[in-house]
Amino acid sequence: MNIPQSSYPRVVIIGGGFGGIALAKKLSKKEAQVVLLDKHNYHNFQPLLYQVSTGGLEPDSIAYPIRKVLQGYPNFYFRLAQVQEIKPTTKRIKTNIGEIFYDYLVVATGSETNFFGNKGIENKGMAMKTIPQSLNLRSLILENFEQALLTDDLHERDALMNFVIVGGGPTGVELAGALAEIKKGILPKDYPDLDTRRAQINLVQGSDRILPAMSEIASEKAEKFLEELGVYVWKNIRVTDYDGKRVTTNTKTIFEAETLVWAAGVKAVSLKGLDAGQFLCRGNRLKVNEFHQIVGLEDVFAIGDVAQMETDEFPHGHPMMAQPAIQQGRNLGDNLVRMIDGKPMRSFVYKDKGSMATVGRNKAVVDMPKFKFQGVFAWFVWMFVHLYFLIGFRNRVVVFINWVYNYVRFDREARLIIRPFKKQNRVERDTLMRD
Ligand SMILES: Cc1cc2nc3c(=O)[nH]c(=O)nc-3n(C[C@H](O)[C@H](O)[C@H](O)COP(=O)(O)OP(=O)(O)OC[C@H]3O[C@@H](n4cnc5c(N)ncnc54)[C@H](O)[C@@H]3O)c2cc1C
Repeated sequence: MNIPQSSYPRVVIIGGGFGGIALAKKLSKKEAQVVLLDKHNYHNFQPLLYQVSTGGLEPDSIAYPIRKVLQGYPNFYFRLAQVQEIKPTTKRIKTNIGEIFYDYLVVATGSETNFFGNKGIENKGMAMKTIPQSLNLRSLILENFEQALLTDDLHERDALMNFVIVGGGPTGVELAGALAEIKKGILPKDYPDLDTRRAQINLVQGSDRILPAMSEIASEKAEKFLEELGVYVWKNIRVTDYDGKRVTTNTKTIFEAETLVWAAGVKAVSLKGLDAGQFLCRGNRLKVNEFHQIVGLEDVFAIGDVAQMETDEFPHGHPMMAQPAIQQGRNLGDNLVRMIDGKPMRSFVYKDKGSMATVGRNKAVVDMPKFKFQGVFAWFVWMFVHLYFLIGFRNRVVVFINWVYNYVRFDREARLIIRPFKKQNRVERDTLMRD
């Protein structure tokens, strides 16, 4: 790989997500050569993916060029590369554009959808982890309504307008709320010759409450908000299979639906060379110590979703959320500088700033360490926080204007089928459309 030699130690970061970017920003002005590798040339603001899927935002407003984030940093190099293998014994990384040597390696590859080995759901269901996947979902939703107009078969029409979202975490809740708002505010105007009242949005949750990682009051309120919007919330039901038309569950409940969105699990993105049993915890996460070092490897670190740091407070690792990734990236940046300077590293301590989810216009739930609130104020807080963490001034302005426009006009104008999507098996789909 063509990277200039430097007298500074080389830190290679794999992944330009929340963790990787926070780390690179910390390090690039220090006495280190920083090489960031990512398979995409942009940072993806995943918390707003559901708005891309539902036509509320253009994909460009939640993506930001990685090169631009770190423009002007003298010791920073970005390469668009898919990492294929880590070779810790020779300190080399194999990628699709060649090999590279590292002094220190940081794995920040994030997570991917976990189908728990269910091939039916993996092949026929939709995931929403990347921008291409969100665009696929946006196209499929719109194509379904176009198709529903064409068929005389009532059964088929209902299935085309029936959406099953599996997983009652923030992603499932936010997507269900957004779809319900489309059903209410947009479909009757866009499709006056279709009985869109028959459209159904089903949110299926395996446990006895949605948003299980939040407070009980947040779960209750979110469920109430969803029901007000006309979403059917199914609790204590597990989806067991999907053949593209029929969703089966562990109960007698069956859904006839042309769209199933799987938001019920993630697993860390594992890399060859670090995939042996001694490195991995549940969900493929890499076991790290309090300094982010992968257990057993002194100069290889992991941060963010891919890392599992077990502490008394977080015995199963920190939540797979943006804040832990950012805070870990910053702490590791400081630690690497300390390590290079021959000083001892500092343990990571996570500062929990709370969690939140929005259900729709004027409806959100916020759990802060000291306060919990729901409703209109929570919705404004949700919007402010998301705008604040969005990378890039232009993106913030565009998203803000879009939100104001959508609020005033009750609209979502990005409902475009730019890249038609046809359901295929996942393998064929991945070959045709890189995600
Ligand atoms: C739909 C959705 C909604 C979410 N909402 C919220 C929310 O509201 N609040 C919140 O805190 N968190 C939310 N999250 C979770 C949050 O986005 C993640 O926890 C966070 O992105 C983790 O950061 P990371 O740096 O570990 O990984 P990521 O941000 O996922 O970045 C990983 C990077 O690694 C790159 N990469 C992966 N494998 C390779 C490879 N082999 N070679 C090269 N590059 C590679 C990827 O392209 C990516 O850029 C949401 C996630 C999703 C999917």
